Amino acid sequence: MRRLRNVKIVATLGPASNDYKTIRALFEAGADVFRLNMSHGDHADIRARHEIIRQIEKDTGRPIAILADLQGPKLRVGTFRNGEEDLQDGQKFRLDLDKSEGDATRVCLPHREIFDALEPGASLLVNDGKIRLKVDDCGSDFADCTVIAGGTISDRKGVNVPDVVLPLAALSEKDRKDLEFVCQLGIDWLALSFVQRSADVEEGRALAAGRAAIMSKIEKPAAVKAFDSILAASDGIMVARGDLGVELPVQNVPPIQKRLVRACRAAAKPVIVATQMLESMIESPMPTRAEVSDVATAIYEGADAVMLSAESAAGSYPIEAVTTMNNVAIEVESDPLYREVIEATRAGLKETIADAIVSAAREIAETTDIKAICCYSQSGTTALLTARERPRVPIIALTSKVGTARRLALTWGMHCVMTGEVERFKMAVVNAARAARTEGFASEADHIVVTAGIPFNHPGSTNILRVAPCEERLIFSTDPE
Ligand code: PGA
Ligand code: MN
Repeated sequence: MRRLRNVKIVATLGPASNDYKTIRALFEAGADVFRLNMSHGDHADIRARHEIIRQIEKDTGRPIAILADLQGPKLRVGTFRNGEEDLQDGQKFRLDLDKSEGDATRVCLPHREIFDALEPGASLLVNDGKIRLKVDDCGSDFADCTVIAGGTISDRKGVNVPDVVLPLAALSEKDRKDLEFVCQLGIDWLALSFVQRSADVEEGRALAAGRAAIMSKIEKPAAVKAFDSILAASDGIMVARGDLGVELPVQNVPPIQKRLVRACRAAAKPVIVATQMLESMIESPMPTRAEVSDVATAIYEGADAVMLSAESAAGSYPIEAVTTMNNVAIEVESDPLYREVIEATRAGLKETIADAIVSAAREIAETTDIKAICCYSQSGTTALLTARERPRVPIIALTSKVGTARRLALTWGMHCVMTGEVERFKMAVVNAARAARTEGFASEADHIVVTAGIPFNHPGSTNILRVAPCEERLIFSTDPE
């Protein structure tokens, strides 16, 4: 089964997408990566969804990536005596460490370290930024605030503190338990929420201990500031526009999205654009024009993947939402302007052999009638470099490592095929041609480009390029040896 687009689709699973039939339908409609959100659902739910995805992978023979998304150090207020209170503009409101139930004048914020970091003048945002508080005075166990923008505050609503680099551990107790649980289940990507610095990423990586690739969610101003070092420490990035748009003025999000997407491509690391992409489809079978435009924009920018959150996890039209993304992607990618933008934003090459090879592979494939660029990639590095080129012709990544195939499912344009380990380059070519034929990319009469690193199994050693016929007999008779 091959997709008719390059950008990938990430679908979050939840109560609306819990059973084999629905998840299979999401996959067939176009979902390449499934996201397990650790903020919702217990371990039994997560385990059940994980099992279904792996079953679908078996039944369809296509590698599927599983992305587990840790909740991260999300701050929440305590509870209220009456469940909720209406806060009026201009009134005073106190946050403190007193565990008793809150009322219209105060509530508990059970995070001692926040009070130490707060300063008068700082903003506190409650309930996705709907309520805004300004700190007038604070001490080690309280913050007296003025309500700048009022609204309804209720039990355990989330709190964002945008102006302050919080002295919070990157991973909460719950995160550590969840991390160990999902790593033992077997995941491909681990997403870290609310990272603030590269050390947070390194902490997650140490705990994952090679069991998952690490994705950093950029959703705090501190992460935007430290982006270069966070990107360097990560395997992939999520532009987490939900919380980012709470912590920063919403109008700051689009330029940040553009900058991050471009930087990730230059670094050959996959980037997901996430949140509210088709928000109205939670309740409606049709997206708004603005939402369609938003998905299209992310694709024009060259993102590796676009993501569905509640649309596929808790909405009434999960399959329609994936279909919409799929259709938008096919349309955008067939637009000559898309090619123009993608080519104009291709980063300059580093002076490495691998860069020279992948760039030459693209040029050869685009100048002649080549049907696919096939890269032999055990670690995935050659495949990632090839994807960075955003070639016009399909990319087939061949690997004997199922983890590599699954991880690459998130990357732009990547069609992964499992293959046996090979010792000689000639066998790599034979396997590549076979994959190109059986997966519907080429016929016997066609040619492909094959890249690899010899000796095999040395990450990033890409040093060989061959234009090969797809007909097996010809591969042998034209072999240089
Ligand atoms: P979340 O992250 O859905 O886990 O909050 C994404 C975002 O904030 O955009
Ligand atoms: Mn978030």
